[in-house]
Amino acid sequence: MALIVQKYGGTSVADLERVRNVAQRVIETKNQGNDVVVVVSAMAGETDKLLTLAHEATSMPDERELDVLLATGEQASSALLAIVLQSMGSPVKSFLGHQIKIGTDSAYGKARITSVDADTIFSELREGRIVVVAGFQGEDEAGNITTLGRGGSDTTAVAIAAALKADLCEIYTDVDGVFTANPAICERAHKINRISYDEMLEMASLGAKVLQTRSVEFAKKFGVPIHVRSSFHAGKGTIVCEEESAMEEVVVSGVTYDVNQARIEIAQVPDRPGIAARFFDAISTANILVDMIIQTTSLEEGFANMAFTISKADFPQALAVAQSLAKELEAREVIAEDEVAKISMIGVGMRGHSGVASKMFGVLAKEGINIKMISTSEIKISCIIDAKYTELAVRALHNAFELDKRNG
Ligand code: ADP
Ligand code: ASP
Ligand code: MG
Repeated sequence: MALIVQKYGGTSVADLERVRNVAQRVIETKNQGNDVVVVVSAMAGETDKLLTLAHEATSMPDERELDVLLATGEQASSALLAIVLQSMGSPVKSFLGHQIKIGTDSAYGKARITSVDADTIFSELREGRIVVVAGFQGEDEAGNITTLGRGGSDTTAVAIAAALKADLCEIYTDVDGVFTANPAICERAHKINRISYDEMLEMASLGAKVLQTRSVEFAKKFGVPIHVRSSFHAGKGTIVCEEESAMEEVVVSGVTYDVNQARIEIAQVPDRPGIAARFFDAISTANILVDMIIQTTSLEEGFANMAFTISKADFPQALAVAQSLAKELEAREVIAEDEVAKISMIGVGMRGHSGVASKMFGVLAKEGINIKMISTSEIKISCIIDAKYTELAVRALHNAFELDKRNG
């Protein structure tokens, strides 16, 4: 007998028939002698619908009220699953985030889980009930409802699995597991059997939305094994776990893309100490998260060029800061573009292999794709390119690195 946390995403509970399919799986797991806690997302499209409604009402909806609104999506789906499970004869109770004390900070729309009260869940499990939890939501210290950011139900599931010291956290979704590239745009994408937390962290943060990045951080920190699998077919998916020695043999594990990117360049700023500090201080004061930064200096002319990337949502605000600073510092101009994408190659095996970067640049060059910025870390290489070449770049890299033949 094991304690299993199962999370079902929006497409898996998109209509009543699918909710019944989920209920069937939950009952099967329970009938195998396991304790089951189920975390559900809102029904597919529901969170977007609520967001659109709020933004139709006003261009800047109040953050606190927006979280109260968005949390209703998961309230509905969790209660509906409980009703269906009851109708199938299973003892069950559903809970909202605050009812099982999923404590968070107060960052509305992107709150971080700080605590989970396992006692209520354990006492329900002891009574023989299935526990259904509304994903994506928590409560701050003052009792306000908060939400965890898009894809946040993954994090609810892993946090609960960590708090309960569950044997396994299963993430049921609309694909068969984690693939070497998004199967929606790369038909030769190959399902990965086992992937390390570190690689999965990079893949998630660089655009593979199959798991929310924070859920992988949580899983790594507390050693929760995750099984990402399909809610439509039986069969094994992908296990996300501690790094194993065989994993280093695979040089590149996957290629990801992120089109939610924008790039700003301040051309010809006077090259003197303190300019970068001044600039990025203004950006961070505006609460904008900067991703890549490149500064190039021309010694003869005494000028520097400063380029950086941010997420598209922060683009207007970052541009305003850049323009005002450029004027003050008498820079030549500000070049801004929001039709850019970040393409990344990820693999723990890169630590011991050189040549991945040059091969990646060669593949992009052969397709006539210009690289605007490059950044590397121990296990990843990212390039900023024109967004219109995203799919071409992903497929070309996937082919060139023969990721469809990836082992393991
Ligand atoms: P859910 O609603 O179940 O949480 P999501 O839409 O959040 O599902 O995540 C699943 C989607 O992630 C898939 O439909 C797929 O298109 C996308 N995805 C992007 N990159 C990858 C990848 N490398 N492997 C698997 N799926 C990926
Ligand atoms: N319903 C939320 C979203 O659409 C959370 C989730 O699905 O994980 O982002
Ligand atoms: Mg998701």
